[in-house]
Amino acid sequence: MVHNVTLIPGDGIGPEVSEATKRVLEASGVRFKWDVAYAGAEALEEFGALLPEATLASIRQNRVAIKGPVTTPVGSGFRSVNVALRKKLDLYACLRPCKIYSGAPTVFKNVDIVIVRENTEGLYAGIEFEEGKPETARLRQLVFEATDSEVREDSGISLKVISEMASRRIVRFAFEYARAHNRKKVTAAHKANIMKFSDGLFLATARDVAQEYPDIEFEDRIVDNLCMQLVKKPQQFDILVLPNLYGDLISDLCAGLVGGLGLAPGANLGDDMAIFEATHGSAPKYKGMNKVNPMSMMLSGVMMLKHLEEKEAADRLEGAIAAVIAEGNDVTYDMKPNGAEAVGTSQVADAVIKKMREIK
Ligand code: NAD
Repeated sequence: MVHNVTLIPGDGIGPEVSEATKRVLEASGVRFKWDVAYAGAEALEEFGALLPEATLASIRQNRVAIKGPVTTPVGSGFRSVNVALRKKLDLYACLRPCKIYSGAPTVFKNVDIVIVRENTEGLYAGIEFEEGKPETARLRQLVFEATDSEVREDSGISLKVISEMASRRIVRFAFEYARAHNRKKVTAAHKANIMKFSDGLFLATARDVAQEYPDIEFEDRIVDNLCMQLVKKPQQFDILVLPNLYGDLISDLCAGLVGGLGLAPGANLGDDMAIFEATHGSAPKYKGMNKVNPMSMMLSGVMMLKHLEEKEAADRLEGAIAAVIAEGNDVTYDMKPNGAEAVGTSQVADAVIKKMREIK
């Protein structure tokens, strides 16, 4: 069977890690028909749109995509292509497994946490009011009338919106994932003590959903406490379910626990569509240097193979990546204590392909 998959190379380091990933996926023995599509600054130059309709159409048709990172310049009017993709395709769940592979550069042991991040709303959704605009003044006025709170005139405002529907859907996703993967516990993170109506609703909904899953333990943590406990004793956590922005932050924290952003894969999942991508961004300073670690995107490829029900190939690819990490020879600078004797992005792909052939 040939799988039709949309491939978005991305920008910055995206094209290099995408090429390395494409090579190892093809070497897994699974057959792909790649539909290459574009997003971000390069798409704007080439096609006049940050997120061309053709890219969305390709994903809608193939239902599976694998994507390199795309740059989002800070503080400009440029809305995040990544956020737009997730919202437009209703990819409401961001799944990020954080597991330590033997030989990974970390002081921790036995960490195996799965992060489930709500992907469509919260403070991250990009509903914003710019300083000095008439609509911002109207909103300030409304806030004053409704709450008696004064918002300073020179304020920019970002809305944090949390709905019961999206909270229920993401918490259910976490519990269903726990059941399907024989996981024991779901921890919901929030700041409901302060944000009573947004995080409070998320927590109340999570508690309600948890009643439907008596076979799985449920607990909650205030997110600042969660940060401290993750660094102190990460082994106590199994599945974490979080609103959007906390999920973003905790994903990078957990990537740090397991060896860094070079080893942190992910997937954005909807009811009938999926985009697989690394947790890391486009690291523009390393663009074109054949330097960065492609393993996050390769491991996202492993997740994609599982999604495509190519379990044997997924296990072989993951086994090959794990073996390359364990040997510690053909790894990039981030996996070497002083960056000494590191190899480049494409050499990691060579080593993984060689290992896969040995495992066959
Ligand atoms: P980043 O993740 O791109 O890089 C931060 C640092 O992490 C890098 O400087 C590098 O030291 C390290 N790093 C990242 N990926 C690595 C890899 N594969 N191998 C080895 N080291 C790696 O974060 P940033 O610099 O904050 O963001 C750059 C751009 O990427 C921003 O525009 C941001 O919005 C965007 N971004 C995109 C996505 C996405 O496309 N899904 C995700 C996160 C950030």
